[in-house]
Amino acid sequence: MKQTKWVLRPVCGSKTRNRIREDTVLMNFPLYCPKCRQETLIEVKDLRLTVIKEPAAEPMNLQMMQILGSAAFLYTAYNREEAVKSSR
Ligand SMILES: [Zn+2]
Repeated sequence: MKQTKWVLRPVCGSKTRNRIREDTVLMNFPLYCPKCRQETLIEVKDLRLTVIKEPAAEPMNLQMMQILGSAAFLYTAYNREEAVKSSR
């Protein structure tokens, strides 16, 4: 009989109803935890579970772009005002 192991949730460490066998291979498997209401991408190989970190979240990058964008806009507006002042 093959060795099996319960999948533990990487976030809170509680048991899931999923079991893996020693020959189970999972790739980019979204493991959902109803307790944390979170989905975690995992990888399973040789009874080992790895949490996959997704590349930097898109909304964060977008927010940064907006902050940088508005900062650049304010700087330009300030410079324009200064130019107007000095031309008087
Ligand atoms: Zn959880």
